[in-house]
This record gives sequence, C-alpha cells and structure tokens, in this order.
Amino acid sequence: MKKKYGDCFYCGGAVEEKLMPREIRWKGQLLVFENVPMGVCTQCGEKVLKPGVAKAIDQLLKGQKKPNKTIQVPVYEYESNVA
Ligand SMILES: [Zn+2]
Repeated sequence: MKKKYGDCFYCGGAVEEKLMPREIRWKGQLLVFENVPMGVCTQCGEKVLKPGVAKAIDQLLKGQKKPNKTIQVPVYEYESNVA
C-alpha cells in the first residue's frame, strides 16, 4: 500500500488518513469544513493537510459557495490568573 503521508513531522509516528473537521479563520470569521481528508499522526495526533486539499478549501472559500449549514460557536474569554 502506497503511503499518502510521510511520517509525522514532530514525532516520526505513522500518519493515517482520516476525515476530520477543519477549522479555518477567513476574513475574521471562524469557518468549519467537515469531512476533510487529512493525515493524523497515530502517536501525537498532529494533523497534516495535503497541499491539494488546502488548495481545494481555498477555492471553496473564494467561490463564495453558500455553507451547507451554520452553527453557532460559543466563545469564552479566558478569565484566570493561571497563564
Ligand atoms: Zn506525531
């Protein structure tokens, strides 16, 4: 089987392809793409996006495609002295 992804950049672990949600900041808005194929390290969980996939997301954004659905994302202000 041909490997789609190299070993993990950080820990050298095996990287498997999974469909994961991808959060993107676009013009000050938080957008979520679901079922994005990406490599996920089985050891440390680091995610790797193929250049072609990143480009496809970019094109979707530039194409002004209407989102399939809109969700509300709660945002909290961090309030603690623990840094
Ligand atoms: Zn890793």
